[in-house]
Amino acid sequence: MAIQRTFSILKPDATRRNLTGAINAKFETKGLRIVAQKRVRMSQAQAEAFYSVHAARPFFKDLVGFMTSGPVVVQVLEGENAVALNREIMGATNPANADAGTIRKEFAESIEANSVHGSDSPENAAIEIAQFFAGNEIVG
Ligand code: ADP
Ligand code: MG
Repeated sequence: MAIQRTFSILKPDATRRNLTGAINAKFETKGLRIVAQKRVRMSQAQAEAFYSVHAARPFFKDLVGFMTSGPVVVQVLEGENAVALNREIMGATNPANADAGTIRKEFAESIEANSVHGSDSPENAAIEIAQFFAGNEIVG
């Protein structure tokens, strides 16, 4: 399996509770490197575009409201099999279903305020990274 890059967000529930270091320690301990990172406040337009695949879902409006409710940390993680490894470290979307030791099991507040985003495929990782980072902001 080759070295991959994936897109990660530490969501507003994580920044509000000062958990960015604790969460990133999980990624780094398990072999992912943070090769780009910034703290931003997403605009409504940015959040709507980012989650446009979910536009028809009943939770979409709430989700956009949540993602714009406070600062987030957007970042690029790099490593062997990074897309799948990141999803494994994150745990299931609903913290009630997440495995022990995962970020969402340990830190998520709810199915919506679930602390982290991670790309679900290498194709989407490339699209999502480009929504927030210029090529020269990623330093491997
Ligand atoms: P994941 O983040 O695990 O890839 P999805 O892509 O299905 O999950 O959903 C995107 C985000 O939308 C979730 O991380 C969560 O914040 C929110 N979400 C998903 N399902 C629900 C739901 N049933 N109710 C409220 N929010 C949800
Ligand atoms: Mg998803």
